[in-house]
Amino acid sequence: MPAMITVTIDGREIRTEPGKTILEVARANGIHIPTLCFLEGLLPIGACRLCIVEIDGYDQPQPSCMQVVEDGMNIRTDTNNLRQMRRDILKLLLLEHPLDCPICDKAGECQLQDLVYELGYDTKIVEGTAGVPMLHKPPVEWSTIGIKYFPSRCVVCQRCVHVCLEKVGRGVLEVGKNGSTPCIVPAHPERCISCGECLAVCPVGALTENVSPLKARPWEKTKTRTVCPYCGVGCVVELNVASDQVIKVTTDDTVPPNYGTLCVKGRFGFEFINSDKRLQKPLLRQGDSFKEVSWDEALNYVAKKLKDIKDQHGASAIAGLCSARCTNEDNYIFQKFMRAVIGTNNVDHCARLCHASTVAGLATTLGSGAMTNSLEDIEDADVVLVFGSNTTENHPVFGMKLRKLARMKGTKIVVVDPRRIDLVDDAVMHLPLRAGTDIALVNAMLNVIIREGLYNKKFVEEHTEGFEELAKLVEAYPPEKAEEITGVPKEDIIAVARAYAQAERASIVYCMGITQHTKGTDNVKSLSNLALVCGHIGKPGTGVNPLRGQNNVQGACDMGGLPTFYPGYQRVDSEDVRRKFEKLWNAKLPAEPGLTVVEMGHAALEGKVKALYIMGENPLLTDPDLHHLEEALKKLELVVVQDIFFTDTCNFAHVILPSCSFAEKDGTFTNTERRVQRVRRALKPKGEAKDDWKIIAELSERLGYPMFYKNAEEIFEEIRKATPQYAGITYRRLEKVGIQWPCPTEDHPGTPILHVGKIARGKGLLVPIEYRPPKEQPDREYPFILVTGRSYYQYHTGTMSRKCKVLNYGAPEPVLEIHPMDAHVLGIASEDTVRVTSRRGSIELKARLSERVKRGEVFSTFHFNEARVNLLTGSELDPVAKIPEFKVTAVRIEKVEKGE
Ligand code: SF4
Repeated sequence: MPAMITVTIDGREIRTEPGKTILEVARANGIHIPTLCFLEGLLPIGACRLCIVEIDGYDQPQPSCMQVVEDGMNIRTDTNNLRQMRRDILKLLLLEHPLDCPICDKAGECQLQDLVYELGYDTKIVEGTAGVPMLHKPPVEWSTIGIKYFPSRCVVCQRCVHVCLEKVGRGVLEVGKNGSTPCIVPAHPERCISCGECLAVCPVGALTENVSPLKARPWEKTKTRTVCPYCGVGCVVELNVASDQVIKVTTDDTVPPNYGTLCVKGRFGFEFINSDKRLQKPLLRQGDSFKEVSWDEALNYVAKKLKDIKDQHGASAIAGLCSARCTNEDNYIFQKFMRAVIGTNNVDHCARLCHASTVAGLATTLGSGAMTNSLEDIEDADVVLVFGSNTTENHPVFGMKLRKLARMKGTKIVVVDPRRIDLVDDAVMHLPLRAGTDIALVNAMLNVIIREGLYNKKFVEEHTEGFEELAKLVEAYPPEKAEEITGVPKEDIIAVARAYAQAERASIVYCMGITQHTKGTDNVKSLSNLALVCGHIGKPGTGVNPLRGQNNVQGACDMGGLPTFYPGYQRVDSEDVRRKFEKLWNAKLPAEPGLTVVEMGHAALEGKVKALYIMGENPLLTDPDLHHLEEALKKLELVVVQDIFFTDTCNFAHVILPSCSFAEKDGTFTNTERRVQRVRRALKPKGEAKDDWKIIAELSERLGYPMFYKNAEEIFEEIRKATPQYAGITYRRLEKVGIQWPCPTEDHPGTPILHVGKIARGKGLLVPIEYRPPKEQPDREYPFILVTGRSYYQYHTGTMSRKCKVLNYGAPEPVLEIHPMDAHVLGIASEDTVRVTSRRGSIELKARLSERVKRGEVFSTFHFNEARVNLLTGSELDPVAKIPEFKVTAVRIEKVEKGE
């Protein structure tokens, strides 16, 4: 701790650490100094000069945002002289400002307006401004799909320039010139990712939002704090509502996990809520179409069919999919319904298709299948290995943080990914391994680390078991051999192994490039081996950190939306656990584990499953080998889809039940770092739509098991009893900031870092893992490897994101990324339509020539129903986690000739 110093501000003696600016010290001590350009978290800009202060010994007032405190300094922040100087600065700004407040979106929220009031609303400030022609002709207004720029209102504070450069890492905007007057110009529009961070920090109405046609003054709006409905980062958002419509999304600078940052989806992806395509009434199949029916008719029909099927074929003939997009309360009620009312453990959801291997792998090696550390504590890492995670596109706010750390702090980022993803620009190294060869690469890193004695011997001895077996196995993976398998030069493997092992704090971040393989569980265990051998676990800036894809995929797993676990990962095949839940739910529960997502499809095809109840999932786009799944769904006697839109899966439904979107719900989501956060209702339900949990509860009553919950909080109170990790969390405690589980008691602060001092399992298990090649290899008939994934602008199956204009503008259609050399050989030009064929099916989409992919590999996303990539993928499963191999599919590519 540095020696403290003493300064005097406005007569108050203040003890502070050296090295801080006067503005920082003043703010920390509740002393207000006006400013237009300063922003917490950015380097001082020093553009507006409003924060000037008087300091003894200085001839002139100094900007407090730039001046560092010194011991004994005597500072005055609010003298007549300073107020007059600030008024003069404001006057100069107002001479350039159009004073078009009545038509400015920012009126009532404008910091320039506020300062005019603060510094004395009198003629001295505005004299010579109102009604006086502006000194300079303003440059032409411009706009993007999401943002309008009114240069005449710009005060050139440069916040937008600096936030784009420092926080987002894009550098789109620069200070340019309009004649002799400085102004902001979009110098590099091609770099813009429409995140709207510039819009968020603009203190005046120069940058305004260009999405909602409906505008409202601050006093006409309500702001409801809730959680972004898209990715697993779980950013806090404020829904700005007027006339029962969301007209804008803002956020709060002061709370984790996003501290005021949003990406394009969180900021501009809200139009789906108000879409006229929302389901508003229950629908019942009538031949090839659907008729609108009452809730009574729909639920009576479903209850009768479920009862008949159960009576005739047994409870295991019924299966259900809960949802990573619904709240914890919805998912808890859904799995309770399947187990206590239907009597089966056949409940799963699409976590099976993204991170089931994480849950299985990390639970085996560490004793907890969740992210070990917090998103925030990556700031403490010296080295970050990013394995199979396109972070800037799929977890954008966390991706921005990584970019910022690399640029501003010098954190060494290593990207291990077949594609040259955006993050490579900020990485010290990129290891472009062949898809599906991760284990060979990690084993070679371990080979180097152990052979060179770089592993953490003390940690290995005290906190792990299985080291000898692991060390013996990795002897067979020298870097030369890994180079042959992975295509990564051995020198790079050695360099990264040394950098990771020798770093004081090193973190592993991974995503579906690791998990979506038939050996996904082994991949996860492999990364766990790496962290344990180096002792990079249980401390800030370390750990094994899976980034969960959807907003509540962590919560849906926590709530027992899995065929092998009750809430809190308590095993269904444990008699003690079963008895506990039988008592809690007052019902006889099944002992056998249930079917997973893909197994449900197989069982339906075999006639073993007769009914499928789907809450908020769209398997007709997300599941592998879709022809096979379509055949399976056609054989079912009952398919119920409960959703907010008519999805692709609805085409196979017998009953469709309209539910509420996140904006109409109360409840909780749990983000990727185990943070449980409040979801709050901002709008009335659309039409006759109901909360997901209410629909299930009403159905349950019809099946003879009434559920008496008045609201979501009552369900959460039961969740606390069922789920030890959530026992200490209450809605009251979640009022402002989310809490990270485990949180066993109401006075427990939550757990940002797991395995501190002791691995949850007791000792970390080191598992020797042999490399096995992916099931499908390229051959003469199918010479390319297709890797599937997501894009920055779209989300999952597109049901929400494709209803939003900014997102559709960013990614309007499916494309196939193909290396220009491969395209050249095949006679394919950019924008040509190509046919992609695997052993299971064929799709057509546009080609995009890109050096992001290697030769021999192509990439596409699964968001688009006009080119369903999962018609191509196979349903071979990881034997433990039952996750399919989405990342490696052998395909051939042909140009589709005109007229074909
Ligand atoms: Fe929403 Fe994820 Fe973007 Fe945050 S990073 S705003 S949670 S989509």
